Amino acid sequence: MPDKSANPRITRLNAEKRPAVRYAVLFVVALCLLLLTIQSSDAWRAREDRLREVSISTTNMSHALAAQGESAMRVVDTVLAGVVERVETEGMQGVVSGDNSRLHQHLKNMVAQVEELHGLFVFGADGSWLMTSLDRTPLHNNADRGYFKYHATHPDRGVHIGKPVRSRSTGDWVLPVSRRLERPDGSFAGVALGTIRIDYFSKLYESFDVGREGVIFLTLDDGTLVYRHPHSEKLIGTDISGGPVYQMYREKGPAGSAMLRSNIDNIERLYSYRHLETYPLIIATAQSRDEILRDWWHSTLTQAAITVVAIVLLLVFGGRLVRQIMIRDHLEHELVQARETLQQHNRELAVLADHDGLTGIANRRRFEEALQQETARATRSGTPLSLVMFDVDYFKRFNDTYGHVEGDACLRRVADAFRGSLARPADLAARYGGEEFVALLPDTDAAGARMVAERIRAAVMALQIPHAGNGPGIVTISAGVHTLAGGIPAESAAVLVERADVLLYQAKQSGRNQVCGGDYAVT
Ligand code: GH3
Ligand code: MG
Ligand code: MG
Repeated sequence: MPDKSANPRITRLNAEKRPAVRYAVLFVVALCLLLLTIQSSDAWRAREDRLREVSISTTNMSHALAAQGESAMRVVDTVLAGVVERVETEGMQGVVSGDNSRLHQHLKNMVAQVEELHGLFVFGADGSWLMTSLDRTPLHNNADRGYFKYHATHPDRGVHIGKPVRSRSTGDWVLPVSRRLERPDGSFAGVALGTIRIDYFSKLYESFDVGREGVIFLTLDDGTLVYRHPHSEKLIGTDISGGPVYQMYREKGPAGSAMLRSNIDNIERLYSYRHLETYPLIIATAQSRDEILRDWWHSTLTQAAITVVAIVLLLVFGGRLVRQIMIRDHLEHELVQARETLQQHNRELAVLADHDGLTGIANRRRFEEALQQETARATRSGTPLSLVMFDVDYFKRFNDTYGHVEGDACLRRVADAFRGSLARPADLAARYGGEEFVALLPDTDAAGARMVAERIRAAVMALQIPHAGNGPGIVTISAGVHTLAGGIPAESAAVLVERADVLLYQAKQSGRNQVCGGDYAVT
């Protein structure tokens, strides 16, 4: 059978009309949307979880590094405080001219003991070297250094951390940590300086895994970069106060965390920073967003691929299901229509089988059938059954005069008048053959039948169809009437027809345009 559902009109019609198709389509679409929603919300949650997890770990790392930086600075600061105390107690003169080998040894020991210390130095008020942890005292003057100028002009006795500088004595990058020396009268006596090797930070930070694009950096309060891991010498001492992390520090205070894009390499990272508790330093750690989300992307894409496959399968099988329903619905629809058409044809056939093609009234076959039924019923119920048989007078002449077509039209008009003359629903008007007609009248006695026959004769005359070959000049009929008396099954159906026919012949013989048989009603 050809697949008619491929016809787009039928497909559209079916989809619009059939609730089953609509529900199937809705079900498939809803399932696909549900899958997508679950998948995307899962993926989103996993992403948020991942970012939160890394945010916690970078925050913890910055916290740990800040605590470590704090204690490292405290060690250097304490050492420095000790030197200041000693120099000031012993007096500047003692340092310069006295037996200074003990202090020199002390400084050397300190540097040897404290890993982060690069050197310890004592400068006089003019910037000249008074004492160092080195084996030889350098000759150059350090009065031009930032930390020296600071202490010379600031009376505060606290620790000062300067910008990273390249050591003039060793050539290494160092972070200067210094304190002011004062004479007993409070005047500026010089500077005690401890230097921390930047190397120290690089070794420390390298031991942390922040990924290939992650960073750890240490800056001064003013935004001067002390060290940035991965190591890049040209970045040491640069000003990052205009960068996003420093900006966040200014806005959020001593600790914070955010996704930011670096000014230096334009990489987006999740940064966590923390200001040291006591010292003017900020430590920040960060991991690149791409690296954080790499595994997440991988699993999300895998799951998305699985979801896409599931959705495709759902659409394919759902589509097939919908198609099947549509085909089935269409076939059912076709079947119903075919059945209806068949029934209609059957009804038409039945009408054709029972009716006369020319006049539209019952045909002879239908009459014979009704005759059998009605004689049986009349015998059973004891009611009378009458038959009127009539024939058009000189119809041969009519045909000869007016032609066969006019003859047919005449028969149709006679049949209409005939049918109009029968009052009861049970009365049957039939064409017996040619220009002969019969009226089967159940439950009608002879008088009633005679009356009906006369009514028919009058109705045909009333048509006033001209008929030159007939005596009255119009179409007339002759009729024979016979009645089977109620309850007496003496005569058969054939006798009823035979008797009516004989009476019809009698009417013809008696001059036509009259009724023979039946009874005149007693009035
Ligand atoms: P009578 O008064 O004795 O009945 O004379 P009649 O000419 O009517 O009698 P007859 O039986 O000799 O002729 C019947 C004619 O009716 C013959 C036929 O030409 C005509 N006839 C029969 N059936 C039809 C029909 O269906 N159409 C037409 N136009 N004429 C028919
Ligand atoms: Mg005849
Ligand atoms: Mg006739």
